[in-house]
Amino acid sequence: MTCYPFPARYPTPRRLRVAMATALGRRELFIGGRWVEPAAGGTLDVINPATEQVVGHLGAATQPDIHAAVTAARSAFPGWRATSGITRGAVLRRIAASVRDRKSELAVLETTDCGKPLDEAEWDMDDVATCFEVRVSLRRCAGGVVFLWALTKLAFRLQYYAEKAEALDAGAGVTKVVLPDDRFSCAVHREPLGVVALITPWNYPLLYALLLLHTCVPLVALTALFFTGDRMATWKVAPALAAGCACILKPSENASLTCLALADIAHGAGVPPGVLNILSGLGPDAGAPLVAHPGVDKVAFTGSLATGKAVMRSAAERVCPVSLELGGKSPVVVFEDAIAGGADAVAKVVEWIMFGIFWTNGQICSATSRLLVQRSAMPAVLAALKHHAEAVCVCDPMSRQCRMGPVVNSIQYSKIKAMIATAVHQGATVLTGGARPAHLDAGYYLAPTVFTDVKPDMSIWTDEIFGPVLCVMPFDSEEEAIQLANSTQYGLGAAVLTSDSATAQRMTAAFDCGLVWVNCSQPCFCHGPWGGRKLSGFGRELGEHGMSNYQNIKQVVEWKDPGVQFGWYPSFSTTTAAT
Ligand code: NAD
Repeated sequence: MTCYPFPARYPTPRRLRVAMATALGRRELFIGGRWVEPAAGGTLDVINPATEQVVGHLGAATQPDIHAAVTAARSAFPGWRATSGITRGAVLRRIAASVRDRKSELAVLETTDCGKPLDEAEWDMDDVATCFEVRVSLRRCAGGVVFLWALTKLAFRLQYYAEKAEALDAGAGVTKVVLPDDRFSCAVHREPLGVVALITPWNYPLLYALLLLHTCVPLVALTALFFTGDRMATWKVAPALAAGCACILKPSENASLTCLALADIAHGAGVPPGVLNILSGLGPDAGAPLVAHPGVDKVAFTGSLATGKAVMRSAAERVCPVSLELGGKSPVVVFEDAIAGGADAVAKVVEWIMFGIFWTNGQICSATSRLLVQRSAMPAVLAALKHHAEAVCVCDPMSRQCRMGPVVNSIQYSKIKAMIATAVHQGATVLTGGARPAHLDAGYYLAPTVFTDVKPDMSIWTDEIFGPVLCVMPFDSEEEAIQLANSTQYGLGAAVLTSDSATAQRMTAAFDCGLVWVNCSQPCFCHGPWGGRKLSGFGRELGEHGMSNYQNIKQVVEWKDPGVQFGWYPSFSTTTAAT
């Protein structure tokens, strides 16, 4: 493990923790533009996964709170839908600006809540979208290449949905359709869908997504925004608000802090009362009544397969549209030609393999957690993988040098350790990791873990782990690689690493999933659609598709000349009948 000295000018992990412990206090529910006590008075603990200590409390919403939020959203919706796209775009831009102003506070909140590496909380770039600041950042940045790319993309991601809202006024809300009958005209109108329920998981609660919009942020936090598919709350809130919907956001009980912080930010930016309601609470107590509420016009859900099925069953009762972003067990396929360039080529390949599984403490829905390596390349890939996995700095996520923090909570920690034990019992071999790092005696930490001697029927190969655990299997032919890659119930992502473009094209076509990475793993851009197939869910977020999630598509057909009789019934046939 390589941990570098902590620079003196940054707040120490201990100082940050002490500050957070005293600052967090208790958060309520944000309903109708006000902070309110939960009707049943319940609370949830906020536990810092790095210390296992309770550092604050959240309000625990139940059905009456959900009802109040839906009622507030319903009465706010007509006013919000009547605003112009330009007005909504301006509000979104102000939200982005406010997030920039509160960047350090939000970054610390997020790290405290879910254990993400913080890295450079005091990083001070007030206008990171400019090329100048990209260059400044690079000079300071240990992960320069990755960060350059991330920041370059940031310039294009700024206020993406603000522009989409503005585009509605400029004609994007109405599309003409050419008809074969020139007596009629046809147009497609895109209208806000109504009151939408947004239910999100904990792995990318909110902060990092917001920071994407407009920001200066810690290195790791910022690159996280670009490289993973889990910017959950903002992936939903920004397009829903841009489309003109009123929202009820139910963040994960495991990481609600930055989502709740969004309430004040949005309120200050001019989001009218009731347009954005944010309620922390448990899934069965708050999520389930939200999905079942007759005042909700659409449910956008991201989370586990089991909960996704429950959400879909409940929504089916009232034929409420849902979009589901669920789990994954994505493959990364490495062909021998990818490492033909020797040690340098091996290093490039292995870094993408590691990034695909160890990023975000291994808690990525699209993690390429199944590694398929052409047999001849196995020795070189495994040797480099072991070496570099053991060099990952696993430590307090408040530390600048941290590249892997703790997993989110004790339940996940126990689940992952149990899956590791089962894999060993079933005959898989631990190449590296498999346990708590020896230098950390508290917190839900696991060393980056790699398994070999994995068989296709082992649970470690078939089931989503949602932790820093990679399984490796060799293959001999392209056909076998395709068969192994696709033999999963999930269909979120897949990656191929090869120097041959024809191989890359064939693999891209053969992968049975919604996202493909060629010679990389995990990059994500808000301009393109995100989502899966099979048990990874359906529907797409981000890009045009992300906006469509929150729009009713209305076909409008017009009889062009009302002065002319239609003339289908003979009794109406006159000289004015159309022919
Ligand atoms: P989870 O399913 O336990 O919880 C997700 C959300 O659903 C939480 O807000 C929870 O409170 C709520 N919930 C729980 N029970 C509910 C119910 N009966 N009705 C309504 N809502 C309910 O998932 P998690 O553990 O928070 O997140 C991890 C999972 O999310 C993993 O499977 C991961 O792959 C998946 N995920 C998928 C994507 C994607 O884009 N496909 C992104 C991130 C995470």
